[in-house]
Amino acid sequence: MMNGLLLLLATALGAMLGYLGRRRRSDAVESTHRCHPDYFRGLDLLLNERPDDALQVFINLAEQEPRTIEPLLALGALYRRRGETEQAVRIHQGLLSRPGMGEGDRGRVLLELGRDYRAIGWLDRAEDMFRELLAQAEHAGEARLNLLEIYEQWRSWPQAVEIAETLVRETGVGCWRERQAHLLAQQASDALKSADEASAERLIRQALDVEPSLPRALIVLARLARQKGDCASALALYARMEETAPEFVGLVLEDWQACVGDGDAWLVILERLTARRPSLAIAEARAQALKAQGRLAEAIGVLHAHYLARPGRAALERFLAFAVECREPGPVLATWRAQHASVPAPLAYRCEKCGLHGETLHWQCPSCRAWGSVKPVEAP
Ligand SMILES: [Zn+2]
Repeated sequence: MMNGLLLLLATALGAMLGYLGRRRRSDAVESTHRCHPDYFRGLDLLLNERPDDALQVFINLAEQEPRTIEPLLALGALYRRRGETEQAVRIHQGLLSRPGMGEGDRGRVLLELGRDYRAIGWLDRAEDMFRELLAQAEHAGEARLNLLEIYEQWRSWPQAVEIAETLVRETGVGCWRERQAHLLAQQASDALKSADEASAERLIRQALDVEPSLPRALIVLARLARQKGDCASALALYARMEETAPEFVGLVLEDWQACVGDGDAWLVILERLTARRPSLAIAEARAQALKAQGRLAEAIGVLHAHYLARPGRAALERFLAFAVECREPGPVLATWRAQHASVPAPLAYRCEKCGLHGETLHWQCPSCRAWGSVKPVEAP
């Protein structure tokens, strides 16, 4: 709500500055021309969150000064904010069809029309508006942001990567680098779905060149290495994850263990991981490794200790399930399983930006659309 109001005010203020600039220029020719006081009254009403009153002021102003585009731009933006987007489209299309409009004004109208089309869901048309705006330095940045979001919505990863790459080059801001790396990883994930492992590996390596600690890229590359029987490379990637993204280690324990085996070396790694960042997934892996060595009491003790240190339903149920499995693998276990049809998973996921909580890992949050903001957390 607040963001919407700020955006609208930015639009209106931009319109006002353009208005004043043009008035100043025209003052040199016609000194009697003055900025209409109602324009400021409309802005004042907007600042005081009275959009309905502001709407009426801008409607009157547009009727009084039909040749000036500022009141109509403010009016269109107001209609869009109120959800009357088709009305906004009509106003902006009308402006665009005016003959003799300068390039600067045309750019401002295209921007508004692009926003209208996005709001209404006509993404093809919005894309055309923003593509045209790329040629105008004043609006190119905002046009790129809009195009990026449109291509992400379409899952057109190569086009989204191209835009993100330009944003990295032009702004040098780290968040665009991370976004570009995520988009490359997304493209790699599509290649994997089509069983094109060579392309997937090339794209994942590109993602890691852009962002060397991207967890999803490390996970996928390690999996590809292991599938090729290259455990040395996979182990190097797990070690890199341990350093740069320890919260994601719980996702690769099974693959990691397959490279190391069940012996003492694996237990040493798990103890090191526990010391760095304890989690139920790691505790469970330690318990399984101890059980494989016949050290049942120690194995149960690890999950018991984890539950005492970090009590939660998932920790308790997984401890109990493991204890029953170790002590009573026969009918008692069957009865226990029948009563606890689903033991909670050791990991859950939470978005650091919007707080969305769930049992599925999303690399782009389905709620706030942020990339890489969803992280594994201890299951509740
Ligand atoms: Zn989120």
